[in-house]
Amino acid sequence: MDNFSKEEVEVVVVGACPSSIVVSTYCCAYLWKKKTYDRLQLHLSKDFCSLPFMPQATSSPKYLSKNEFIQYLDGYVEHFKIKPKFQTCVELAFYNNDEKKWNVKSRHVTSGEMEWYACDFLILATGENNGGYIPKVVGIDNFNGEIIHSSDYKFSEKYKDKKVLVVGSRNYGMEIVFDLSNYGCHTSIVIRSPVSFSISLYLVFTFIFFVFLHVNLPLSLVDIVIAKFAKFNFGNLAEFGIPQSEKGPCYVKISKGTSPVIDVGAIGKIKLEKIKVLLGMSEIKEHKVVFENGKEHQFDGHFCYWIQKCCYQMAKAISIFIDDGTLMNEFPNHWKGENRLYCAGFSKRGLAGISMDPITIVDDIKTVKGDKI
Ligand SMILES: Cc1cc2nc3c(=O)[nH]c(=O)nc-3n(C[C@H](O)[C@H](O)[C@H](O)COP(=O)(O)OP(=O)(O)OC[C@H]3O[C@@H](n4cnc5c(N)ncnc54)[C@H](O)[C@@H]3O)c2cc1C
Repeated sequence: MDNFSKEEVEVVVVGACPSSIVVSTYCCAYLWKKKTYDRLQLHLSKDFCSLPFMPQATSSPKYLSKNEFIQYLDGYVEHFKIKPKFQTCVELAFYNNDEKKWNVKSRHVTSGEMEWYACDFLILATGENNGGYIPKVVGIDNFNGEIIHSSDYKFSEKYKDKKVLVVGSRNYGMEIVFDLSNYGCHTSIVIRSPVSFSISLYLVFTFIFFVFLHVNLPLSLVDIVIAKFAKFNFGNLAEFGIPQSEKGPCYVKISKGTSPVIDVGAIGKIKLEKIKVLLGMSEIKEHKVVFENGKEHQFDGHFCYWIQKCCYQMAKAISIFIDDGTLMNEFPNHWKGENRLYCAGFSKRGLAGISMDPITIVDDIKTVKGDKI
């Protein structure tokens, strides 16, 4: 491998989405442009959704739509004159002990042409949730309707009057089921993991969460306050078949990296029985799904929204990740590996975490280089 001709560069950054913008499989902000549904809106206020050195415009709305966020990202690329190498997939990276450099192998996705780089600093920003994953539920191959992953869902008109099951109840699953229901689909949702609060509480949660991050309030205290507030606001959601979490939202966000949110619009529709809540699936048949309580329901379409963690061969080969794609080191020490290896965007803290990593990484590189950047 050492005999390939290698282009010598100082830093290679893999990924061209919010966390970084340099080598990418397709285009800048690929996930946002190609893998998200039309009604998507950022669920954090714009103050927590900007990248380093370029705040959101004061004229933009507090909660950006998908297109407004894409415009911001494109503007960022233009403003900082970032020129990513597109259509390029990094297949392998390893530390070459003789050269004391990282060797990176990439391939052009259409021509198949291969290139090698040797660099002093390697930054992985390949995304913690960039691969759609549909689990092998018993009988899934026999289903006669359409099965798609949420990352391929764009809009709901196509499903009008159809019976659709959405599997998964994090905020994206909830938003999709709400969108479908608005367009006259007969929608049901599988909620297996307990949820602990609604989207309006999410705003309160977000605020308290960031206070917690900055002021170090005890996590358990924040969770108790939010749980009490949620119960007061929405009553006992268990009555509508929605399993309730015993753990608070901060605990879930930090330990699992997920936001245990239920959409307020979806709650309204669940209470009106416009959206049916179903618990765990056990088997899929030609036109039906069998649930853990033994009941069967008929469907034409069936969405899965599970999101797989980053699990590239390339990343796995590097000792910064463990096998399921999560990082070895925990926040706040997650960003640094050995031999000048860094990763950005893996702190499980959404865009707010994403905007912190590049600054920490660049500061570290400056220290290694003796401030010569
Ligand atoms: C539907 C959806 C909605 C979200 N909404 C919010 C929100 O409202 N607020 C919030 O804070 N967070 C949100 N998130 C979470 C997170 O902020 C985003 O996922 C964000 O895009 C992550 O940025 P990233 O740069 O780390 O990774 P990604 O956006 O996944 O980008 C990774 C990039 O790396 C490239 N890449 C991967 N592997 C390779 C390789 N081997 N070679 C070359 N290139 C490679 C990919 O092509 C991609 O361009 C959302 C996520 C999803 C999926």
